[in-house]
Amino acid sequence: MNKKNKRVIDPKIIKFEELSWKQIEQLDKNKTIFYLPISPLEEHGPHLPVGTDLLTVRDAATEAIKILNNKNPNLTYVLLPAVPVGYCEFNTDFPGSISVSGKVVRDIVFSVGSSLANHGFKYLIICTYHMAIAHLKGIYSAMKKLGSKYNMKTCEPWGPYFHSKEIEKREPKLGFDTTKEVHAGFRETSLMKYQYPYLVDESYKKLQSIYRNMNSPRVLGKTFKQLGLKDGYVGSPARADADYGRWYFNETVHVFVKSTLDLYEGKKLLELPSNIKTAMRALFWQ
Ligand SMILES: [Zn+2]
Repeated sequence: MNKKNKRVIDPKIIKFEELSWKQIEQLDKNKTIFYLPISPLEEHGPHLPVGTDLLTVRDAATEAIKILNNKNPNLTYVLLPAVPVGYCEFNTDFPGSISVSGKVVRDIVFSVGSSLANHGFKYLIICTYHMAIAHLKGIYSAMKKLGSKYNMKTCEPWGPYFHSKEIEKREPKLGFDTTKEVHAGFRETSLMKYQYPYLVDESYKKLQSIYRNMNSPRVLGKTFKQLGLKDGYVGSPARADADYGRWYFNETVHVFVKSTLDLYEGKKLLELPSNIKTAMRALFWQ
């Protein structure tokens, strides 16, 4: 075999799609943890790829598995293929955003979980970076149903961490308010500069800071363009810094690792704050 044709696989990462049903059947049902990366393809400003969220959660899940393989080798960690799906209706006025309803998100997560649970598997970690309420509602509804119907243990690590303002408590001091970096701004541009520098268009350096309070009732039901966000970002991409990107990525990995162990050990996991739960309940399926 010449070098070119050689498959480059990290032997430590078990990818679901590469297993046979026989191999899947042989996995220890009580000790196998599945990871489902799921985030929509959506515009991320003129400078970042539409797969920014999807690539990040897939890579963070992969990295978390590498760490867990060393930390707790008694368990088996299986990475499901990243599902490029989510609710992002508010920026579909840009090409590249593909939105599905929260119900579809719910049905996908539930179907993946129940298909595994029907064969005795008990643990599923849902990895998403996309924090839209309708998207989270889909994920959390599916998790609830998987728990009540199959007693499956599931968690979505990033939402509770993100919405509880844990990032701001832990991140290095920067001298500006990072909570305003809502979409394709400083944080995500930094992440991509760290993980995929070749996918970041140099024009990011010249993008002006644009801020909008996305929690204000005024923005409800409006698309990005209707809010005057003509380039599709909210924040200050020009400040992007690969070192911060490394910190942010590793923080995500750490949250995935900790949530996995806590879930397996039956510890209480960080929950979504009550305002987010209320918003999820108040939202009609869309
Ligand atoms: Zn994003």
